[in-house]
Amino acid sequence: MKAIKTGIMGGTFDPIHYGHLLAAEEARINLGIDRLIFVPTGDPPHKHNRNITPAEDRYAMTLLATAGVLEYSVSRIEIDRTEETHTVDTLRAFLDTGIRPEDLYFITGLDAMLSITSWFEYEKIPELCTLVTARRPGYPVSGIEKLPEFIRSKLKYIEIPQFAVSSTEIRTRVMSGKGIRFLVPHLVEIYIESNNLYKNF
Ligand code: NAP
Repeated sequence: MKAIKTGIMGGTFDPIHYGHLLAAEEARINLGIDRLIFVPTGDPPHKHNRNITPAEDRYAMTLLATAGVLEYSVSRIEIDRTEETHTVDTLRAFLDTGIRPEDLYFITGLDAMLSITSWFEYEKIPELCTLVTARRPGYPVSGIEKLPEFIRSKLKYIEIPQFAVSSTEIRTRVMSGKGIRFLVPHLVEIYIESNNLYKNF
Protein backbone atom coordinates (compact mmCIF):
# COMPACT_ATOMS: atom_id res chain seq x y z
CA MET A 1 0.00 0.00 0.00
CA LYS A 2 1.31 3.47 -0.90
CA ALA A 3 2.37 5.51 2.14
CA ILE A 4 0.53 8.76 2.72
CA LYS A 5 2.84 11.77 2.53
CA THR A 6 2.04 14.52 5.04
CA GLY A 7 3.21 18.12 4.72
CA ILE A 8 3.27 20.43 7.72
CA MET A 9 2.98 24.06 6.65
CA GLY A 10 4.34 26.05 9.59
CA GLY A 11 3.98 29.79 9.96
CA THR A 12 2.72 32.63 12.11
CA PHE A 13 0.16 33.42 9.38
CA ASP A 14 -0.42 36.96 10.62
CA PRO A 15 -2.28 37.06 8.29
CA ILE A 16 -2.24 34.11 5.88
CA HIS A 17 -2.07 35.30 2.26
CA TYR A 18 -1.91 34.01 -1.29
CA GLY A 19 1.92 33.74 -1.10
CA HIS A 20 1.55 31.08 1.62
CA LEU A 21 -1.15 29.26 -0.34
CA LEU A 22 0.89 29.29 -3.55
CA ALA A 23 3.93 27.93 -1.69
CA ALA A 24 1.85 25.22 -0.04
CA GLU A 25 0.32 24.13 -3.31
CA GLU A 26 3.64 24.18 -5.16
CA ALA A 27 5.21 22.01 -2.47
CA ARG A 28 2.24 19.63 -2.54
CA ILE A 29 2.42 19.18 -6.29
CA ASN A 30 6.22 18.98 -6.55
CA LEU A 31 6.71 16.52 -3.70
CA GLY A 32 3.60 14.43 -4.24
CA ILE A 33 2.24 15.34 -0.81
CA ASP A 34 -1.15 13.78 -0.14
CA ARG A 35 -2.32 15.95 2.73
CA LEU A 36 -1.14 19.33 3.87
CA ILE A 37 -1.67 20.48 7.44
CA PHE A 38 -1.35 24.19 8.16
CA VAL A 39 0.04 24.74 11.66
CA PRO A 40 -0.30 28.35 12.87
CA THR A 41 2.26 29.09 15.58
CA GLY A 42 1.04 29.53 19.12
CA ASP A 43 3.30 31.63 21.29
CA PRO A 44 6.32 32.01 18.99
CA PRO A 45 9.47 32.13 21.16
CA HIS A 46 11.25 34.14 18.45
CA LYS A 47 8.56 36.84 18.22
CA HIS A 48 8.27 38.17 21.74
CA ASN A 49 9.36 41.56 20.47
CA ARG A 50 6.27 42.34 18.42
CA ASN A 51 2.54 42.33 18.91
CA ILE A 52 1.24 39.11 17.44
CA THR A 53 -2.44 38.87 16.59
CA PRO A 54 -4.23 36.48 18.98
CA ALA A 55 -3.78 32.86 17.97
CA GLU A 56 -7.55 32.33 17.64
CA ASP A 57 -7.77 35.06 14.98
CA ARG A 58 -4.77 33.67 13.07
CA TYR A 59 -6.28 30.19 13.30
CA ALA A 60 -9.70 31.42 12.08
CA MET A 61 -8.12 33.20 9.10
CA THR A 62 -6.12 30.07 8.22
CA LEU A 63 -9.33 28.01 8.34
CA LEU A 64 -11.14 30.51 6.11
CA ALA A 65 -8.24 30.57 3.62
CA THR A 66 -8.04 26.80 3.28
CA ALA A 67 -11.71 25.81 3.56
CA GLY A 68 -12.97 23.65 0.73
CA VAL A 69 -9.55 22.41 -0.42
CA LEU A 70 -9.73 18.64 -0.08
CA GLU A 71 -6.06 18.06 0.73
CA TYR A 72 -5.76 20.92 3.25
CA SER A 73 -6.52 21.07 6.95
CA VAL A 74 -5.53 23.28 9.87
CA SER A 75 -4.14 22.02 13.17
CA ARG A 76 -4.57 23.65 16.60
CA ILE A 77 -1.60 21.72 17.98
CA GLU A 78 0.60 24.78 18.54
CA ILE A 79 -2.09 27.27 19.51
CA ASP A 80 -3.52 24.93 22.14
CA ARG A 81 -0.13 24.38 23.75
CA THR A 82 0.17 26.40 26.93
CA GLU A 83 3.96 26.44 26.95
CA GLU A 84 6.21 27.94 24.29
CA THR A 85 5.95 26.04 21.04
CA HIS A 86 8.86 24.50 19.17
CA THR A 87 8.83 22.88 15.75
CA VAL A 88 10.70 19.82 17.06
CA ASP A 89 7.83 19.07 19.50
CA THR A 90 5.20 19.57 16.80
CA LEU A 91 7.00 17.16 14.46
CA ARG A 92 7.31 14.59 17.24
CA ALA A 93 3.59 14.88 17.96
CA PHE A 94 2.75 14.15 14.32
CA LEU A 95 5.17 11.21 14.25
CA ASP A 96 3.45 9.87 17.38
CA THR A 97 0.29 9.48 15.30
CA GLY A 98 2.06 6.82 13.22
CA ILE A 99 3.52 8.91 10.39
CA ARG A 100 7.04 7.77 9.39
CA PRO A 101 9.81 10.42 9.20
CA GLU A 102 10.33 9.60 5.50
CA ASP A 103 6.69 10.54 4.85
CA LEU A 104 6.73 13.80 6.82
CA TYR A 105 7.66 17.19 5.28
CA PHE A 106 8.05 20.49 7.12
CA ILE A 107 7.49 23.48 4.84
CA THR A 108 8.26 27.07 5.67
CA GLY A 109 9.66 30.28 4.16
CA LEU A 110 13.33 30.67 3.30
CA ASP A 111 14.04 33.44 5.81
CA ALA A 112 12.53 31.29 8.58
CA MET A 113 14.50 28.23 7.42
CA LEU A 114 17.75 30.20 7.43
CA SER A 115 17.32 30.75 11.17
CA ILE A 116 16.85 27.03 11.88
CA THR A 117 20.14 26.71 13.77
CA SER A 118 18.66 28.98 16.47
CA TRP A 119 15.58 26.78 16.93
CA PHE A 120 15.11 24.56 19.97
CA GLU A 121 16.82 21.15 19.45
CA TYR A 122 17.34 21.96 15.77
CA GLU A 123 19.90 19.15 15.43
CA LYS A 124 17.09 16.63 15.87
CA ILE A 125 14.81 18.14 13.21
CA PRO A 126 16.42 16.58 10.09
CA GLU A 127 15.97 13.10 11.64
CA LEU A 128 12.23 13.71 11.98
CA CYS A 129 11.25 14.98 8.53
CA THR A 130 12.33 16.34 5.17
CA LEU A 131 12.66 20.13 5.24
CA VAL A 132 11.13 22.15 2.44
CA THR A 133 11.56 25.83 1.83
CA ALA A 134 9.98 28.24 -0.59
CA ARG A 135 11.82 31.20 -1.96
CA ARG A 136 10.01 34.53 -1.88
CA PRO A 137 10.38 36.31 -5.23
CA GLY A 138 12.94 39.09 -5.00
CA TYR A 139 14.69 37.69 -1.93
CA PRO A 140 18.29 36.52 -2.35
CA VAL A 141 18.80 32.80 -1.99
CA SER A 142 22.16 33.20 -0.30
CA GLY A 143 22.50 31.73 3.15
CA ILE A 144 21.57 28.11 2.54
CA GLU A 145 25.25 27.25 1.96
CA LYS A 146 25.98 28.40 5.54
CA LEU A 147 23.62 25.82 7.03
CA PRO A 148 25.30 22.67 8.36
CA GLU A 149 25.55 19.77 5.91
CA PHE A 150 23.23 17.51 7.98
CA ILE A 151 20.48 20.11 7.48
CA ARG A 152 21.22 20.91 3.84
CA SER A 153 21.11 17.21 2.96
CA LYS A 154 17.50 17.05 4.22
CA LEU A 155 16.43 20.35 2.64
CA LYS A 156 14.35 20.53 -0.51
CA TYR A 157 13.92 23.81 -2.23
CA ILE A 158 10.88 24.88 -4.25
CA GLU A 159 10.43 27.86 -6.51
CA ILE A 160 7.10 29.56 -6.05
CA PRO A 161 5.35 31.56 -8.76
CA GLN A 162 6.14 35.27 -8.72
CA PHE A 163 3.76 36.71 -6.15
CA ALA A 164 5.51 39.27 -3.99
CA VAL A 165 3.35 39.67 -0.91
CA SER A 166 4.21 39.37 2.77
CA SER A 167 2.24 39.43 5.99
CA THR A 168 4.16 42.54 7.02
CA GLU A 169 3.12 44.30 3.83
CA ILE A 170 -0.51 43.35 4.38
CA ARG A 171 -0.48 44.64 7.98
CA THR A 172 1.12 47.88 6.80
CA ARG A 173 -1.43 48.33 4.02
CA VAL A 174 -4.35 47.82 6.41
CA MET A 175 -2.85 50.24 8.94
CA SER A 176 -2.45 52.91 6.28
CA GLY A 177 -5.97 52.38 4.95
CA LYS A 178 -4.96 50.66 1.70
CA GLY A 179 -6.99 47.76 0.38
CA ILE A 180 -5.79 44.17 0.45
CA ARG A 181 -8.23 42.72 -2.08
CA PHE A 182 -6.64 39.92 -4.17
CA LEU A 183 -3.67 39.67 -1.79
CA VAL A 184 -5.53 37.46 0.67
CA PRO A 185 -8.57 35.21 0.13
CA HIS A 186 -11.83 37.16 0.18
CA LEU A 187 -13.05 35.62 3.45
CA VAL A 188 -9.76 36.54 5.14
CA GLU A 189 -10.16 40.12 3.92
CA ILE A 190 -13.67 40.23 5.40
CA TYR A 191 -12.45 38.70 8.68
CA ILE A 192 -9.70 41.34 8.97
CA GLU A 193 -12.20 44.13 8.32
CA SER A 194 -14.90 42.78 10.64
CA ASN A 195 -12.49 42.25 13.51
CA ASN A 196 -10.60 45.52 13.03
CA LEU A 197 -7.30 43.70 12.79
CA TYR A 198 -4.04 45.53 11.99
CA LYS A 199 -5.57 49.00 12.41
CA ASN A 200 -3.05 49.98 15.10
CA PHE A 201 -0.13 47.73 14.35
P1 NAP B 1 8.52 34.32 10.04
O1 NAP B 1 9.72 35.02 10.57
O2 NAP B 1 7.21 34.93 10.31
O3 NAP B 1 8.61 34.06 8.54
C1 NAP B 1 9.83 34.11 7.96
C2 NAP B 1 9.62 34.30 6.51
O4 NAP B 1 9.07 33.13 5.91
C3 NAP B 1 8.66 35.42 6.21
O5 NAP B 1 9.11 36.02 5.06
C4 NAP B 1 7.35 34.69 6.02
O6 NAP B 1 6.45 35.36 5.20
C5 NAP B 1 7.79 33.43 5.36
N1 NAP B 1 6.95 32.31 5.69
C6 NAP B 1 6.57 31.92 6.93
N2 NAP B 1 5.89 30.78 6.87
C7 NAP B 1 5.80 30.48 5.55
C8 NAP B 1 5.23 29.41 4.84
N3 NAP B 1 4.63 28.41 5.50
N4 NAP B 1 5.34 29.39 3.49
C9 NAP B 1 5.97 30.37 2.84
N5 NAP B 1 6.57 31.42 3.46
C10 NAP B 1 6.47 31.47 4.79
O7 NAP B 1 8.58 32.85 10.58
P2 NAP B 1 7.41 32.14 11.28
O8 NAP B 1 6.24 32.13 10.38
O9 NAP B 1 7.25 32.69 12.61
O10 NAP B 1 7.97 30.70 11.46
C11 NAP B 1 7.96 29.80 10.40
C12 NAP B 1 7.97 28.40 10.98
O11 NAP B 1 9.22 28.16 11.63
C13 NAP B 1 6.89 28.17 12.03
O12 NAP B 1 6.37 26.90 11.89
C14 NAP B 1 7.65 28.30 13.34
O13 NAP B 1 7.08 27.55 14.38
C15 NAP B 1 8.98 27.73 12.95
N6 NAP B 1 9.98 28.22 13.90
C16 NAP B 1 10.31 27.42 14.96
C17 NAP B 1 11.19 27.87 15.91
C18 NAP B 1 11.53 26.96 17.06
O14 NAP B 1 11.18 25.78 17.03
N7 NAP B 1 12.20 27.44 18.07
C19 NAP B 1 11.75 29.15 15.80
C20 NAP B 1 11.41 29.93 14.68
C21 NAP B 1 10.50 29.47 13.75
P3 NAP B 1 5.22 36.14 5.84
O15 NAP B 1 5.79 37.18 6.75
O16 NAP B 1 4.54 36.72 4.66
O17 NAP B 1 4.46 35.11 6.58
